[in-house]
Amino acid sequence: MAIKKIVTVPDSILRKKSLVVEKVDKEIKNLMDDMLETMYKAPGIGLAAVQIGIPKRIVVIDISKDENKKDPIYFVNPELTWKSKEKATYEEGCLSIPDQFAKIDRPEKCTVKFLDYNGNTKEMKAEGLLATCIQHEIDHLNGILFIDYLSKLKKDIIIKKLSKNKKELERIVV
Ligand code: ZN
Repeated sequence: MAIKKIVTVPDSILRKKSLVVEKVDKEIKNLMDDMLETMYKAPGIGLAAVQIGIPKRIVVIDISKDENKKDPIYFVNPELTWKSKEKATYEEGCLSIPDQFAKIDRPEKCTVKFLDYNGNTKEMKAEGLLATCIQHEIDHLNGILFIDYLSKLKKDIIIKKLSKNKKELERIVV
């Protein structure tokens, strides 16, 4: 397993639509292992493969609060098959949009169909934090970021701020 570098805004790869995984083979499993380790290290509760620069439809999530009881869920080719009409609001952040948070409304419950770590088809009903997290990550696979749900003004401010940070960081490194 290896910790990978997390891609941040405004990197254009984050806007790419990720590709369907044909087969859950050893290479994909290695990728999922790396994603999980990278997510734990960050730390975050969800990560899409595109966030480490690999535009494949893979997501890892672990919303368990207990450090000693890890409970990772691996989603390959996840697809929402149902969304509730009721909404839930969470203050969302994103590993690819460092230090920025915003209240986002999403369907409170959803059903997701996916392939698991062993390539078996699964369907899961999720609610609350897990439902929000799944939807946030599936958005990544379609090139959508949580800031896209904000007003253009708010979104532009965040992108500008992050673009500036990036330049400053580059200057220091050089
Ligand atoms: Zn994110």
